[in-house]
Amino acid sequence: MQKVKLNITRAGVAKVSIGLLVLALIAVIAAVLVRRNSEPGAAAPHETQVTVASGDTLSKLLAAENIPGRDINAIAEILKKECGVSGLRADADSLVMSREHENAPIDKITLSSGPWKRVELTCADGQWTAKNIDIDRDTRLVRRVGTIADGESFYMAGRDAGIPDSVIMNVFDLLAFEIDFERDVRAGQEFSVVYEENYNGADYVNAGNVVAVSFDSLRGDVQMYRFRKPDGTIGYYDQNGNSAIKSLKRTPINNAKISSNFNLNRKHPVLGYSRAHKGVDFRAGSGTPIPAAGAGTVVERKYNSGYGNYITIKHNGTYSTRYGHMSSFNPKVRLGTRVSMGQIIGYVGSTGLSTGPHLHYEIIQNGIQVNPMTVKLPAIDNLDNASKQKFLAFRAKLDEAIDVLRNNPNLFVQM
Ligand SMILES: [Zn+2]
Repeated sequence: MQKVKLNITRAGVAKVSIGLLVLALIAVIAAVLVRRNSEPGAAAPHETQVTVASGDTLSKLLAAENIPGRDINAIAEILKKECGVSGLRADADSLVMSREHENAPIDKITLSSGPWKRVELTCADGQWTAKNIDIDRDTRLVRRVGTIADGESFYMAGRDAGIPDSVIMNVFDLLAFEIDFERDVRAGQEFSVVYEENYNGADYVNAGNVVAVSFDSLRGDVQMYRFRKPDGTIGYYDQNGNSAIKSLKRTPINNAKISSNFNLNRKHPVLGYSRAHKGVDFRAGSGTPIPAAGAGTVVERKYNSGYGNYITIKHNGTYSTRYGHMSSFNPKVRLGTRVSMGQIIGYVGSTGLSTGPHLHYEIIQNGIQVNPMTVKLPAIDNLDNASKQKFLAFRAKLDEAIDVLRNNPNLFVQM
């Protein structure tokens, strides 16, 4: 199998001749054809293939192939001792048991645990031995481009563009606080996703990580790149190296002290009886600006006797935040206004049921108030200067690879 590798070097993209591109295209087509031909059913005649189902045990599966009890015990023991395998996992593991001819005893067993782990057991002179087989993972980057059609969701458009479900779901998660997929998606919006396809030789195994996303959103083009930081952790950053993962701030007003915690059994300071405190109170002087904890749409902006003047911002299909007891609203922020993280929505006050100026802040997850201090949220992760320089160099190389893919949509690159 011809393998085409585009080496993206510091000096720039290796010059790729048209001839090489055609070869690569043939290689990709050939890989697809090989994949079709190697689908189940092509196993050798003396092989038994078993996908482990719920309730299956190693001894049960081996006994079904007439492997003697003492061999089963020996196999179980070496699997545990030498390969760290102590049981089979239903719907994940599979076994291929082979014999030399139809009536011969089984002398080779291959155990596959997921796509990248394989153990081979062989029997010679009545002795079983086991070895871990390293499976080479070949990672290719591909780029898929989609346009939202009239009445179509991002999910549907992603599928139309040929993007696997697992990759679409990752993009959803990455953009969850940036794009409201219910409200912000319109016909004609374009997006592109660069992601990994993992191969073993010519065989496609699975889709890997999302490497770059570009989404033509209503508020401007959103771009993000996956980057491994010098400390080995992974993050997604915009073209300038700022954290691209938007989230919610647990403390909307920087450095504000908590004066009352989230507590479902609090004695209310004004009412005097026990009443759940479904938010966090931050002490701040009257008139202190209140920034939005994240990007979203203002869905409530009104007064009631409890919250006083308050605003609720819907961030996505899961999260909203609420800000109570305001002295006044920012007149530019109306019902339905799209706000960005940090945009001032109003000012601290003591309206409603309140004993003194403070911000009452709630995070609402699927309609229920949760503790803003402890709820699990994506981390906002900015790069230090040295890491940012490394990111920018990496991004330049990745952009060159993306250019190759943009001009040759059926190709892949390897970095
Ligand atoms: Zn409160």
